[in-house]
Amino acid sequence: MHKPRFLLLSLSLFLLCATMALADGAKYVFLLIGDGFGPNQAALTELVADRKLAMQRMSTHARMGTLNVTSNITDSAASGTAIACGMKTYNGAIGVDKDRQPVESLAMKLQKQGFKIGLISSSPLTDATPATHYAHQEKRSMHREIGHDLAGSGIAFVGGAGVHDKRTLDDLRESGWNVIGGTNVLAQVRPEGQTFVNSSPYTAWPNTRPATPTLAEYLARAIEVLDNPNGFFIMLENGRIDYAGHDNDAAMTWREVLAFEEAVEVALAFQARRPDETLVIVTADHETGGLQLEACDKEKAQLLRGQQSPLSDLGWAMKVLAVKLEGVDAATARRQRTQSLLAALEQQFGMTFTAEERAGLEGLFGKALDAGNPTDGLRKAVSQAAIWRDARVGIRYTTGGHSAAKVLTHAQGPGAERFVEPLENCDLPRLISQAIQWPGKGE
Ligand SMILES: [Zn+2]
Repeated sequence: MHKPRFLLLSLSLFLLCATMALADGAKYVFLLIGDGFGPNQAALTELVADRKLAMQRMSTHARMGTLNVTSNITDSAASGTAIACGMKTYNGAIGVDKDRQPVESLAMKLQKQGFKIGLISSSPLTDATPATHYAHQEKRSMHREIGHDLAGSGIAFVGGAGVHDKRTLDDLRESGWNVIGGTNVLAQVRPEGQTFVNSSPYTAWPNTRPATPTLAEYLARAIEVLDNPNGFFIMLENGRIDYAGHDNDAAMTWREVLAFEEAVEVALAFQARRPDETLVIVTADHETGGLQLEACDKEKAQLLRGQQSPLSDLGWAMKVLAVKLEGVDAATARRQRTQSLLAALEQQFGMTFTAEERAGLEGLFGKALDAGNPTDGLRKAVSQAAIWRDARVGIRYTTGGHSAAKVLTHAQGPGAERFVEPLENCDLPRLISQAIQWPGKGE
């Protein structure tokens, strides 16, 4: 009489064990986002660095559409929301759909299931891309409200280039967060509680030394403190690839792509240690600058190594303008300053311009000096110099804004085979979710 019941019990135990053994999938998820990072930004970096990027060696690669809900060129808020929450929305939206209704992000769903969450960015952590993972606000400019959402998010580790509104740091402290600043920030991070690390990530330029952690170092430390048997989800963004695109700054582009690449390498090294449980996604929210590689090769691309600092950094010009010229008349002073600015600009670009280009630049510097505030004029001269330099490199920017170019999504790990074309940004959270070992899945 008890025999059939016993058999049934053994059978169900057997089935349970079998399904548990089959219930594999990702427990550790890396979502690595290059803001403004199109395929040409990657290709240019490979030419300058003369090597393939690690992301190109991942197992799947798909072109991904990024247009917003009205099929217009997206901003980071609409595309970030699509990537974080799984639906197309309007530009400026943070974690809300086209009807301004909040939609829960995959990160927050995972957190409820016991995953630890980490967010790292070289942009402020209340900026659009990170915010879409924890906030629900109608406009990306609502920095204070986004900061409140962060304070109440329950996220374990957040780090990078600060917040927009300084009061957010107080909000975080009041909510029990450990807010870390100063030097040696990553050594101060403890695995328990909620941590906010306020230290802008370092990117290498000539004559600079790291004073703050790189994105890769941030990621390595986040892995140490978030690693736990229930799993983690880490979103890392390099927002400065986007800034470089807006500034049409090709030298900044490749340096920032390499900083991003170092973080990708950290994630892939973890993936290699736990291949069956780790999913790495490398993607972008949109392309910025409409960068075209027209006649660029490895040799010409080396010209981009000469630039000493971002184009937006006018420190070299300010040094020239700070020099006091005594005992000379106004016309002589103007001529001397123009000459000094030209020499400093050539040093800043690490190259010599042609006689014709120099004459053009002198004219622009002269105009800048005649203006009450020379900054705008100096920027014009720098932009013109960059256009001439880029023509020699064989590249060209077509906009100072975002473009409609498709971006690439690379994947490696369990479920990577799902990331195939046709692919839209709003597909990512669903595909990641399908690849995840959700607690209870398969039982
Ligand atoms: Zn942008």
